[in-house]
Order: sequence, then C-alpha cells, then structure tokens
Amino acid sequence: ELHAAKEESKLVSKYECQRSTPLHHQNENLTDALSAVEEEAEILDRKEDYSRALAFCKAACSLKCLTKPVSSIQDIKGLPNIGDHSRDIIKEILENGFSREVERIKNDHSLQKKKMFMSIYGVGPSTARKWVDVLQLATIEDVINCPSINPRKEARLAYGIAFHEDLKQQVGRTTAMRIRDIVHNELKTLDGEVTVEVTGGFRRGKQFGHDVDLLISHPVEGRETGLLQKLIHRLNSKGLILHGVMEESTFSEEMLSKSSKLTPKGQLDHFEKWIGIMKFPKNLETTPQDSVRDRKETIKDEFKEEGKKRIKLDHSLTVTDHNHIGSGLQEQINKSFQKSSTSYSPSPASLPSSSDLSELVKLAQSEREWRASRVDLIIAPASQYAYALVGWTGSKMFNRSLRLYAQRELDMKLTSHGLFDMKQRKPIQASSEQEVFEILKLQYRDPEERNC
Ligand code: ATP
Ligand code: MN
Ligand code: MN
Repeated sequence: ELHAAKEESKLVSKYECQRSTPLHHQNENLTDALSAVEEEAEILDRKEDYSRALAFCKAACSLKCLTKPVSSIQDIKGLPNIGDHSRDIIKEILENGFSREVERIKNDHSLQKKKMFMSIYGVGPSTARKWVDVLQLATIEDVINCPSINPRKEARLAYGIAFHEDLKQQVGRTTAMRIRDIVHNELKTLDGEVTVEVTGGFRRGKQFGHDVDLLISHPVEGRETGLLQKLIHRLNSKGLILHGVMEESTFSEEMLSKSSKLTPKGQLDHFEKWIGIMKFPKNLETTPQDSVRDRKETIKDEFKEEGKKRIKLDHSLTVTDHNHIGSGLQEQINKSFQKSSTSYSPSPASLPSSSDLSELVKLAQSEREWRASRVDLIIAPASQYAYALVGWTGSKMFNRSLRLYAQRELDMKLTSHGLFDMKQRKPIQASSEQEVFEILKLQYRDPEERNC
C-alpha cells in the first residue's frame, strides 16, 4: 500500500492526452512545489520557448495523473517527463518535507513583486521585470504614480491597472454561469438558435477562473457571422461593457495545414473574438453565500472589510431564482444600471479619453454597482465547432500534448479550427469532441480529465 504509486508510475503514458488528469489528486504538495519553480522560470527566463518552465509543468502533469500518493523517490521510477531538476525537488520534499528552492522563491521579494505585477491584465514577464528591476516599483500605487508609465496608448493596460482590485479576485463558477446567461439572453434576441458554452477552466470543473471563456456558435454554418458585433453593441448599450478589443477572423482554409503560432499563453487561433472586461452587476451575485464562496480563495485580510460591505449589498438584492433567470435577469440588470446615478456606461466615443489612467482610477474607486470581470467571447462556425471546443476547453498543456501527439504519431495537424491529414492532404471533419478523440485514436477524456 505504501508504494502503490510505484506500480502506477510504470504504466503512465508518454503523452498527457493519453492520460486522465483530474483537477485534484494525491500529490498536490509536490505539484505545488513544481508550479512555484515553473512560475519563477516563466517570470525570469528570457527564452522565448519557455523550455524550463515547460519541463517543470510536464513533470507536475505526470504526478497529477497518479491516483496514489508518492512516498519515496523509488515510486516515480519510470514516470515519464521527470527531469533531473524536478526529481531533485521531489526527492527533497519526500525526505525533508520541504524544498529549499521553493522556500527561497517564497522569500524572494523581488520575484514576488514581479508575480504581483503579472497578475495585472496586460502585464507580462518583461513589463513586470522592468517595473521591479529598472523602475523599482513595488505596489499598484507606485505604478499609478509613476510618471514614466503612461499607458494612454495601451488601453488594456490602463484598465488592467485601474481595475486590478476587481480583476485579481478570481471569477467564481456561479458568476461565470450568470455571465453566460447574460450573453446568451442578448444573443437570443438576435437569433434564437445561437449556442453559448462556458469553456476554459470552468468546463474542466474549476470553481474559479481568471476569466470567463464563452464559445459562441450557430447550428447553421454561416449564420454566426456578424453576431459578435451586434452582441457587443447590445451589451454596451446596456452598460455591461467596460473595455474590450474585437479581433476579426483571420481564418482561411490553408491554415488547416499550418501550425498555429505558439505563445506562452498557448497557441493562437484565427477565430473572430472579443477579449475584454465586462461590468458584472453586483446584485446578480446570487446569494451572500455564493459571493463568499466564489471569493473565499482570494479574500485576504486586507480585503475582509471590503468583503463585508459587499455581502451586505448582495443581501439586500438577493436573487432567489437560481437557475432560471430568464426574464428576471433584465430586471436585475436594470436595477443595477438604469436606476443608478453613479453607474457609468462608456459610449464608444468616450472610450479613447477614458484610457487616461487617472480617470480610470477615479472610476474604479467610485461607488459602483458592478464588478469588472475578464471575459473572452469566441465565435466558431458549426463546421469547426468540435475542434474549437477542444481547443478552448484546454488545458493549455492538454492541447499542446494533443497537437504534438497528432503530429508525431499520426502525421496530422491539429488546431482549434480542424484536423489536417498531411499524408492525404485533406482535412478531416468532426461533429463532436468524442469524434475528435476517435479520429485521433485516443480514448475519450471528459473535460474534467484534461487538467494537466
Ligand atoms: P483560467 O481559469 O485561469 O482562466 P483557463 O484554462 O480557462 O484558465 P484561459 O487562458 O482562459 O485558461 O484559456 C482557455 C483555453 O483557451 C486554454 O486552454 C487555451 O488553450 C485556449 N486559448 C486561450 N487563449 C487563446 C487564444 N488567443 N487562441 C487560441 N486559444 C486560446
Ligand atoms: Mn479561462
Ligand atoms: Mn481566456
């Protein structure tokens, strides 16, 4: 029983997509440690390929699929993708209960500041390094007051800084479902057959996420075109949009045979999409219990008072109908916006001037009835939907492994748009996720099993 993981280790497949990787598992102390060193590598390495970070991530993935706790380094003999560095960290934790390297990372103030800055929407490793190492900034206030930071040209960053307080609190599952309902309700007025699916981490069973990823489609090919523009227009006219950037579709048939661009955030696709920040009405935060539960992970001592205030507000506007919010929803939204004198609805014309940081900070600090939430809206035509669903469900690591597997084992090119058989020089259609796995000769994995 003590070395049960040993037998399992030998059976673990080479590719992550060949395994079942649950969200919660038996070796979280080890994978948390590996995540910490992965994060440090991601923040500090100047390599474009993030190869060191990737190595730690792959080692953690192997541990995540074990159903038994590892009790000695012998237990992971034969476990794939455990590099020397990862093995040393695992060994030290198994022997001493902690890793000196992870302790060093936790106490590295400069790194922790960079990490905090990277939690700002629009800030990547190089900006975070510059702010800490060159500009010597330590807090969000420092950033706001720093004369050499003027994100006027980069609206996204200005909103990210000003609304950091909102955006750093993860979105809870209930809120994610409400945002889906709000979006779906607007879409239904445009076309009753449109479908909206919550993808990303929530679809994989996570209770919290840094954003809400909504995949929008229509059963009739072609009828999805033009929807996104109209949707954003409608949401904006209801005061539900804070900021966003629309990306037109750049897809063409020849892309099916090409690899998509690899970035640290994953592989970019060519769908029409809107990446932005929505204003989520606080009175839709269902019950006080929901808002506490949704946020329990991120409410720290300094925000507890804030939290209490918020809960009181939620209480007075408790929504009793939990699952079917249909017509009541609009009323709730009206309550938050139309009747409020402090509400702010940016008209498209007022947007450029409001990327002025100080103005945005004022808005963020004002009394308001909404919370800023990161939302991604993606439009996929019916013919590409199954592949888009796999791609936008993730995880990033799962996708990476699927694509590598398809290329190396089957000589096929997999993207969020489709699968292309390189030998026969033709695309292969799929109408469900199950079919995608079948074509790839892989055992089907539920989204909950794709948490590598
Ligand atoms: P979190 O809970 O932190 O939001 P997540 O798994 O939902 O985690 P996201 O960054 O929201 O992560 O991405 C969701 C999925 O969509 C990822 O698995 C990724 O593969 C895919 N994805 C994200 N951005 C893009 C993009 N620009 N192009 C193509 N695919 C993307
Ligand atoms: Mn997400
Ligand atoms: Mn996303």
